[in-house]
Amino acid sequence: MSPTLTGDSTRWEAVIGLEVHLQLRTARKLFCGDLAIFGDEPNTHVCPVCLGLPGALPTTNPEAVALALRTALALGCTVHERALWARKNYFYPDLPKGYQITQFEHPIATDGRVDYDGPDGEASVRIRRAHMEEDAGKSIHDRIAGGTAVDLNRAGTPLVEIVTEPDLRTPADTRAFLTSLKQLLEYVDVSDCNMEEGSLRVDANVSIRPRGDDELGSKTEIKNVNSFSGIEKAVEVEIARQVALVEKGGRVEQETLLWDDHRNALRSMRSKEESHDYRYFPDPDLPPLVLQPRAIDAAREALPELPRARRARFERDYSLSAYDAGVLTHSRASADYFEEVVKACGKAKAAANWVMGPVQALMHQRGEDASTFAVRPDVLAEIIELVGSGTISEGSGKTVLGAVAQDGGRPLDVVKARGLVQVRDDSQLEAWVREVVDANPGEVARYKGGEAKLVGFFVGQVMKRSGGKADPKRVSELLKVALG
Ligand code: ADP
Ligand code: MG
Repeated sequence: MSPTLTGDSTRWEAVIGLEVHLQLRTARKLFCGDLAIFGDEPNTHVCPVCLGLPGALPTTNPEAVALALRTALALGCTVHERALWARKNYFYPDLPKGYQITQFEHPIATDGRVDYDGPDGEASVRIRRAHMEEDAGKSIHDRIAGGTAVDLNRAGTPLVEIVTEPDLRTPADTRAFLTSLKQLLEYVDVSDCNMEEGSLRVDANVSIRPRGDDELGSKTEIKNVNSFSGIEKAVEVEIARQVALVEKGGRVEQETLLWDDHRNALRSMRSKEESHDYRYFPDPDLPPLVLQPRAIDAAREALPELPRARRARFERDYSLSAYDAGVLTHSRASADYFEEVVKACGKAKAAANWVMGPVQALMHQRGEDASTFAVRPDVLAEIIELVGSGTISEGSGKTVLGAVAQDGGRPLDVVKARGLVQVRDDSQLEAWVREVVDANPGEVARYKGGEAKLVGFFVGQVMKRSGGKADPKRVSELLKVALG
């Protein structure tokens, strides 16, 4: 249990359910032809439809429907052949129509499940529903002194809202689930999933109950969090508040809370009494969203291998540890990269070590990821083969990797140009060994006196003398002979 859970932490159990808003990666908005682009001059991607001008009629963007369908299938949901668009009515300056078009009673998908690695092992969260809706615009408070500006470029861009059952129990659980959910959504390539930029937004519903009880306690809803660590912290703070309150004899009031990231604190936004009556009703301007069964089947078949399945296959097919398979399948691009290297060189274990070691480090240093990394898989495969065949040392392999990342070119050309071919000729190696032994009489005496681990020192000296080109295995054999 969380360390900040005050009071008797064994007595209370927390219950957490999430509402996740996902911005779909479409070119255009959900009901009009405006570009769904962010960061442009305010109010440059607007039209009569998303401005809500009288008489303007929406039409549904099939690209958004396709992405929502893929999302629903990745979440293991039942996809419905007929969904209905509804109007959710409320007043807010960034909502020009005075209502949001969403799906209410008949969403596109229900009853899914997402498996994830919880802090205590395998776990899963049921997905209650996933529905499509349009986003609102943005209120900007720091542009006009003493006033609020409104940018409607975002108004009408497509979202999927994913609603979980209240299946999570701890802050760590919540974070682990979100990490897996994000990975899943990235694999199916439906969204940027960037919490800082708002393309993934998470609201957390939190309640507590006496451990062992089946009934749910009354919940609060936390909004305005912009990182997974923020969610974990906010949920932790809220559980602690509820436990302290109830243990003092108080009652948890239903309310919406806003997270303040700078102060690590929650404040009340609105209570149940102030909560909206949205007066949902079917949108008369839009026909039902109809999906043909064969379109659903085709989308299901076109789904890429999902991260957990891919990880399991990596363990099986490449004899990797669960940990290594997990690291390599962290992103779809990284898993693709690894598999292409293996295909080209046939050496899974070596490929895993190179990708997780030097390649990872170099990518990080260059600010690249597996999809943009300067050294493409076939080139890395050549380096791995040069090392595997003994043509160059492991160390030289890293040098070559750095060189081709920097300047391009083929590994073998770098090896030739820099004279990196490994020296395995005994007469040359013996000469270096002799020089090193003669130059270090003190170490030789200590070695002979029983300090066997000094062999590493001698190997290092020979490697240095050879400019990194000596074959270290052979050097160590020759050293043992020379040192008697
Ligand atoms: P509301 O009607 O207040 O929106 P819903 O029943 O629609 O509540 O649920 C919204 C979200 O809150 C869902 O993710 C659900 O799992 C979660 N939730 C519902 N009841 C609780 C509860 N008592 N404790 C924690 N989470 C809850
Ligand atoms: Mg709700």
